[in-house]
Amino acid sequence: TTPSASAADPAAGAAVKAADRAHVFHSWSAQGLIDPLPIAGAEGSYFWDYDGNRYLDFSSQLVNTNIGHQHPKVVAAIQEQAAKLCTIAPGFAVDVRSEAARLVAERTPGDLDKIFFTNGGAEAVENAVRMARLHTGRAKVLSAYRSYHGATATAINLTGDPRRWPSDTASAGVIHFWGPFLYRSAFHAENEQQECERALAHLEQTIAFEGSQSIAAIILETVPGTAGIMVPPAGYLAGVREICDRHGIVFILDEVMAGFGRTGHWFAADHFGVTPDLLTFAKGVNSGYVPLGGVAISAEIAATFDQRPYPGGLTYSGHPLACASAVATMNAMAEERIVENAADIGERVIGPALREIAERHPSVGEIRGLGVFWALDLVKNKETREPLVPYNAAGAANAPMAEFAAACKRGGLWPFVNMNRTHVVPACTVTEAEAKEGLAALDEALTAADAHT
Ligand code: PMP
Repeated sequence: TTPSASAADPAAGAAVKAADRAHVFHSWSAQGLIDPLPIAGAEGSYFWDYDGNRYLDFSSQLVNTNIGHQHPKVVAAIQEQAAKLCTIAPGFAVDVRSEAARLVAERTPGDLDKIFFTNGGAEAVENAVRMARLHTGRAKVLSAYRSYHGATATAINLTGDPRRWPSDTASAGVIHFWGPFLYRSAFHAENEQQECERALAHLEQTIAFEGSQSIAAIILETVPGTAGIMVPPAGYLAGVREICDRHGIVFILDEVMAGFGRTGHWFAADHFGVTPDLLTFAKGVNSGYVPLGGVAISAEIAATFDQRPYPGGLTYSGHPLACASAVATMNAMAEERIVENAADIGERVIGPALREIAERHPSVGEIRGLGVFWALDLVKNKETREPLVPYNAAGAANAPMAEFAAACKRGGLWPFVNMNRTHVVPACTVTEAEAKEGLAALDEALTAADAHT
């Protein structure tokens, strides 16, 4: 049911937009300056508007439609659950909730076998931090610059990008440190091993100056996503695990974006053989068909709340429609080998194509990633690595990236763009032909970025 010219209905699109502008207040936006595209439908790797334009979704919306749009098994599971039981309070035991928890626990590494469900990623982060603070009796939390952890009070404070600034004092006791990122090294490192050693030494020093006895948790995205898909050097996460163990600090890995197949494994932590004490997830667990997130909890932390109540909850925790969609998503991903597809397309199609694109385009400074989780770091100058637009650029200063994004859209590609980067993050179900179609459109659109080098 992809659109044809005859299916186009610009008048209907205009009505949808007018209604939106009347009453919808949008995230992260100056309400008077935005122009939201009215959407008529979506399927698999594509969505389309009312003017007959179809877009190959290289953003997976907000990097959440890992199973693609409108997967029939997931849609059917939601419909069946809706007919059976739409809602029930979190205090009851229900079949779909238990099954969703079992399937998540089975996939998460190590002994992360108890699952606390939330409605999304930020609530998962809030609850993970609360668990860590209660478990340790300590207050401070360390998080990385170049990170995103959500937009609620503590989660936005943990976030290491400019979205934090307006709410910087939302939560006390959050300390930021530098994670590893060789291409723009905070440590003047020359290779991955140096970057790893220096980043770990910097973290040790931060802990020494903050006082290890006051630090409840260190939270990291396993592979930081929104901030630039920076795959950590081998040994870094194991090093953080060891530091946490030595100081009695809870290690939280945020896998809201990197989890559930995105990196070509069920969890990004699987690439590094590291098990955190708490793992946050959302997005890919059910591809966002119904809001769902959660925290996978180690046996030790779960034991803290065995005889003492956990002081936190949500009316919709473990919502039946969300859990039904998660069960169907995880089962379909296994049956259809979707995680394996993400690994294969990344290694065989996307990685090689991006390496070749990077050689030809003066604006592509670095490409990095794995699975269906790739970033192109766009630069003015490959030698100096000066970003194509300044950090946190807006308006005219951001024109090069805006022009690049517009060129993608003209070519039928919906890109993910953040600061001076574009991310190649299609559905984990993306086919070889679709990936090649999108990469060709990306290649073409990059000439708009090259014009600014
Ligand atoms: N953590 C990470 C790593 C994320 O990428 C996001 C969302 N982009 C969040 C947390 C917040 O998730 P949500 O928007 O569902 O609250």
